[in-house]
Amino acid sequence: MDKNWWDYQVPLDCSWYWKRLVAVKDAFKAKTDLSKFAVMSWSKIVWERLSIPKHRFVLWLVMLQRLRTRDQLHKFQPLMDQSCLLCGGDIESIGHLFLHCHYSSVCLQKLKQRLGWNSASLNLMLLIRWIHKAKRLSVVRKSIMYAVLAALVYHLWRVRNDVFWSNKLWHVDNTVQRVVREIQVRISLVMPKKAKAIDREWVTKFSKS
Ligand SMILES: [Zn+2]
Repeated sequence: MDKNWWDYQVPLDCSWYWKRLVAVKDAFKAKTDLSKFAVMSWSKIVWERLSIPKHRFVLWLVMLQRLRTRDQLHKFQPLMDQSCLLCGGDIESIGHLFLHCHYSSVCLQKLKQRLGWNSASLNLMLLIRWIHKAKRLSVVRKSIMYAVLAALVYHLWRVRNDVFWSNKLWHVDNTVQRVVREIQVRISLVMPKKAKAIDREWVTKFSKS
């Protein structure tokens, strides 16, 4: 599905969430000249091989400021409550959800601990740039760190939507576990065979529950 994401058709038996995501993709495709996006500077980051297509897509929408957070919805529905569905403390915006919200920042912190990542930043774009510029990290580690960030963004948006539609808030540990599990499966599928032992050990440490 990696290569054919833009032509992907939704199967009848998939979840409502996946159907909505594919519908957003179709609407986006209809309005956009995709060839222009291939040359954008962050496209390489978004299309990193290790990250999962649905994760990359949501990360892409975040970078384009295209997710309909409550601050956006408020412009069309002035009576709508704008507070964050995850923490209730701030206005829900893309910047807040990714990753300044208390809920998001706790998830991020737990994932950073697993990755042995000392950066204190809660700014998604700065974190992506940090990985990009880090000189001492191997390509394997960088790819996994990008993939983890993309997975976190995807799952935070999913958690947020579960509160929005079902009024159910997942515990942060469940959200972190979902990210770790999906990355584990992905790594087992696409991890380069020549990856160094030190990177393999690091991956094992990340995957430990
Ligand atoms: Zn919040």
